[in-house]
Amino acid sequence: MKKTSLILIIFLSGIIMAQEIQLAWDLYHSYESFKEKTLVNRRFKHTDIVPLIEQLKNNKILKVEKVGKSVEGRDIYLISLGSGKTKVFLWSQMHGDEPTATAALFDMFNFFSNENEFVEFKKYLLSQLSIYFIPMVNPDGAEQFQRRNIFEIDLNRDVLRQQSPEAITLKNVFDSLKAEYGFNLHDQGRNYAAGNSFNPASISFLAPSADYEKNLTQPRENAMKLIGKLTRILNDFIPGHIAKYSDDYEPRAFGDNFTKWGTSVVLLESGGWRGDREKQFLRKINYVTILSALNNIANGSFVDQDFEMYESIPKNEELMMDVIFRNLKVNKNENSYKIDIGINFEEINVKSAKDFYLKAEIEDIGDLSVFSGYDEFDLSGYTVEPGKTKSEAYSSYDELKKIIPAELYKEGCTNVIIQTEKTDLEYSPHPFNIFLNKLIVPEPKIKTEEAANLIIRKNNEVKFVVVNGFLIDLSNIDAWNGNSLVLGLINETPGF
Ligand SMILES: [Zn+2]
Repeated sequence: MKKTSLILIIFLSGIIMAQEIQLAWDLYHSYESFKEKTLVNRRFKHTDIVPLIEQLKNNKILKVEKVGKSVEGRDIYLISLGSGKTKVFLWSQMHGDEPTATAALFDMFNFFSNENEFVEFKKYLLSQLSIYFIPMVNPDGAEQFQRRNIFEIDLNRDVLRQQSPEAITLKNVFDSLKAEYGFNLHDQGRNYAAGNSFNPASISFLAPSADYEKNLTQPRENAMKLIGKLTRILNDFIPGHIAKYSDDYEPRAFGDNFTKWGTSVVLLESGGWRGDREKQFLRKINYVTILSALNNIANGSFVDQDFEMYESIPKNEELMMDVIFRNLKVNKNENSYKIDIGINFEEINVKSAKDFYLKAEIEDIGDLSVFSGYDEFDLSGYTVEPGKTKSEAYSSYDELKKIIPAELYKEGCTNVIIQTEKTDLEYSPHPFNIFLNKLIVPEPKIKTEEAANLIIRKNNEVKFVVVNGFLIDLSNIDAWNGNSLVLGLINETPGF
């Protein structure tokens, strides 16, 4: 190739890249006008999306079909649009508690339904592509906000055995389409960092392997190049927060088998983002990413992308914690030593699984300098001891109103006892934990895998307390907006 034509190609691909990044920013800035406003957090259900799907039937560019039913009889829908020769198949929420992309798909349906904006872009996409969506593959899991289906089968381990109706539906649709491109849309745990960057892995990609040897097949190579291109675009939006999911071959998973059967599969995992437990920012990033991907598939520009970009994406590493308290001092006998305390919250579903509360557990103690916290507090110069339980019990819930938290904390206590055996409460808004009578209250301790209740002093005076993992500044107790635990309803009471 002549030098001048090489320069021309580089120049032109630079222009295309700049245009694609501009498009992504245009999508980002106009997002609010397309966002599906009825989906406001992660715990929406099948009943929330059915009316939205029914509305789509009125739009002549979208086709809506029922393609299957869940174990509990909820309809699984296929929504399609476009008349291009390249087929793209996207499916979300095969794990019921992984809804971020589902919400983004409904934002995209609004985007495609709108007749006034991005008209040329949409016309172009739909002339090049035929796009198929299954939003919420696992509606029964979504109902309980749990990963698995109602038989406790992980749908993403059921592509071969085909026992769950949901996995059968997904496989049937895949077989009927034989799409060139597939998007396997998930959420991953918040505890992953992008390599050792100290940033959450907010979006993790993978071009799944089709065999144990992780061989490069043409479909897999295309998926890698497309991911490389998407990473370049996303670097404008969430630099340092993009990671790569483990490429270990899983013979029972959909993505791995779809790759083996000839589709270029992109796994997209929404992880964590600071200050965004409900993942509404990551939902927006999903929207921008998926529309950018469709544009790239339509114009084919990603095939010029080298593999280096994909190779250079840092791996998912389990280096994030919800909270880290750093540089605390523990005094024991005559000695004192320095520790960091890392805490993770577990989300516990409440009743209808429409809501949740948080239950903290100490994840690690010691030198946690390689970890990063969603929230971090440097407590150099402070000493720490475990929060105790006040020995005199209160007779009723009403009596709790009498408690002055600052007084309780000065006694070194973070927990109280009530003389009752029953309550409807699953958690409490009070800045102290509540034990029901008859519960054995073990010795307070600071220990891994146990509860996170701490008293933090400076010059012997209590300055901060930690109740169920939430830090309370004694100079501003009213700012508390965490939740404490009511123990007695829960069968196990580890750590107290
Ligand atoms: Zn998943």
